[in-house]
Order: sequence, then structure tokens, then C-alpha cells
Amino acid sequence: MANIQMVDLKGQYEKIRTEVDQAINEVVRSSAFINGPEVKDFQTELEEYLGVKHVIPCANGTDALQIAMMALDLKEGDEVITTNFTFIATVEVIALLKLKPVLVDVDPDTYNIDPEKLREAISPNTKAIVPVHLFGQCANMNEIMAIAEEKDIYVVEDTAQAISARYTLKDGSVKTAGTMGHIGATSFFPSKNLGCYGDGGALYTNDDALADRARQICNHGMRVRYYHELIGVNSRLDSIQAAVLRIKLRKLDEYCDARIAAADYYDAAFASIPEIKTPKRAEDSTHTFHQYTLRVPAEDRNHLQKHLMDQDIPAMIYYPVPLHEQEAFEAYKTGETEYPVTVQLSKEVISLPMHTELTEDQLKTITQEVISYFKNK
Ligand SMILES: *Cc1c(COP(=O)(O)O)cnc(C)c1O
Repeated sequence: MANIQMVDLKGQYEKIRTEVDQAINEVVRSSAFINGPEVKDFQTELEEYLGVKHVIPCANGTDALQIAMMALDLKEGDEVITTNFTFIATVEVIALLKLKPVLVDVDPDTYNIDPEKLREAISPNTKAIVPVHLFGQCANMNEIMAIAEEKDIYVVEDTAQAISARYTLKDGSVKTAGTMGHIGATSFFPSKNLGCYGDGGALYTNDDALADRARQICNHGMRVRYYHELIGVNSRLDSIQAAVLRIKLRKLDEYCDARIAAADYYDAAFASIPEIKTPKRAEDSTHTFHQYTLRVPAEDRNHLQKHLMDQDIPAMIYYPVPLHEQEAFEAYKTGETEYPVTVQLSKEVISLPMHTELTEDQLKTITQEVISYFKNK
């Protein structure tokens, strides 16, 4: 049996090697490394796949979030509400733009932002909400969009972990993650569900004016070369990455099915273990299983991780430190807000190997070892 890995990029590459090598070679031969035809083609194909009017490719997911907030023209001191239980990038760009991050606790079942607490956190200075579709499942967009409309606030979806997740809105229509708010931001980091072979990212929007601004910001604030109307950045998806992404986009549904099959296997194996809480699948969102994250008793979590590591089975803690406890965000601490759910999750969560190449043998080994820890404790 092959070594068990958290993410098996090599195994995935082996299966698409001929196509990928050829596509990369063609870009090199054409030497159209920046803004080559592959980038435009990927953009169009992703727009079609997602059912969104505009995809704006950029250099990475963190840039996508930053450019989204720049495109909304938020002003210094404006408050931006987001979750306390996410990857640092979400909050980092808010602070970098001199906006004020306001952190909100999460739902204990989905680990996504708690709409009730979001409502309580709104002030007259709130200008945007950044729901993060954590671990592959959409946040409660029905509630979030209702609050945003009522209060006239922008919604920027951080969909770095949930590309291709589908969400059922109140009116019965089904939308893809990142296309429900005013603007969405995603990442093509290699280990993401649609990952390239380096850094990459994109913004999505159905708003023509926002798309135009975001596109301009990505390209040094210019529409016409050397005429700069806005202060922008340099953030591009390069042609080699776009060529790889075009191939992988065609396989994205198949990749997602493989993740769901692995999650189903885990769910069934752990169903009879009382100490294990398997990931909840929300009624209104599909789950794309960017991560398969269990909750186990806090006193067991680190021991379980060590037990698995000792058997050469990787397991990761996403995320061990809530954002409000991060040294870098000391300045934003109010002391008034408490985060009981995030604090508890940070002690109880453990993510098991999850990728497109897991075999039944590997899944069997992983689940047996998890179960044996609890049986022999
Ligand atoms: C990965 C990730 C990002 C950042 O993407 P990069 O491409 O690594 O910059 C932002 N938000 C979340 C939730 C992520 O998981």
C-alpha cells in the first residue's frame, strides 16, 4: 500500500501526466507566459462551470480577497465582519487595508459563521461581511444575505475551500459557492480542491461595474496601458497555471465525487464510536470535503494525532489557535466578545487525510487506527 498522505498531489498528477505535460510544454513553446490565451480560456470555462458572469483570475487567494475589498472601495476604519475560525488570510487583508476586522463565533455543527452572532456584531460602521465556506461547505447564505440586504452591507464570500459547492437559496434556486454575494474570492493553491502547480486565485462577480474595477486593480489600476486611474496591484494568474487549471477543471466533479466517497467511508466507519463527531452535512449546501474534520474529546485529540502519526498516518489540526488569540491580532481584541465555540473547536478538531486518490485499503487502515485508539484507551 502506498504511503498515506494528507493530500496526494503526485498520485493525482500521474493520472493526468500526459495532458498536463503537453499543455505546459505548449505554453513554454508559445512563450506567452503572461496573459496568454490559456488564461482567457480558463476564465471563460470557469464562468460557465460556476454560472457566474465574471471570473477575474489573479495571483492567489489572499490577493483575491484583498482586491475584492479594494474594489468595494471600503474606507479606513470601516468594519468588516468575519469568522474567528478560518485561515489567517481572511482577516489579514482586512487589517492590511486598515479596515477593522470584527470577529464572530461559529456554528458548532458546520464550523461556519453563526448568523445570530453576526447580526449582533453589526454596527453603523459595518460595511462588509466575509463569510468563509470552511472545509468545503457553504455558510448559511440564506440568513447572511437576508441580514446584508436589510442592513445594506456588502458580502464578500471567501470560497477558497469550497469551489464547486452548491447552495440552495430560499427561492429554490441553486447557486455555486462564491456567486451569491456581491463578490467571491477563491484560491488555486495546489492543495485546494481545484489546485494549480504554483499559486493562483480568482474573483467572481455578477456585477459588471465591480468586475471592471477588480480587473483594473489586478492590473496596476489601468484600463489603457500606462494610464492609471486607480491605485492597483500586480496580481495575475500565469499561463502555465491556467493551462493546468483548464485540465483539472474538466475533472473537478469527478475529483469532488472521490472526496465525497472517502467522506462517506469515514462517516460509516465512525458511526458507532460515541467519542467521535463526524462532520455535519448542512441541508442547504453540498459538502465538497476540502477537509474531513472530526470533533473528538479535547483530552483525546492530541493523543489521537500522535497515535496516528506513530502509524505513519498524517492528521492535521485546522486550526489550533483562534484568530482572536493570535499575537498579530492583539490590537483588535476588544475583551468584550467571547468565542466559546471557536475556543472549544480549536481543542477538539482533527482533520484526517482527504484527497482524490485515497484507496479503500488506505481508508481501512486510517479508520481502523482511529477506532483502535478509542477502543484501547
Ligand atoms: C487558502 C485560503 C486562503 C488563501 O489562499 P492563498 O491562495 O493561499 O493565498 C484564503 N482563505 C481561506 C479560507 C483559505 O483556505
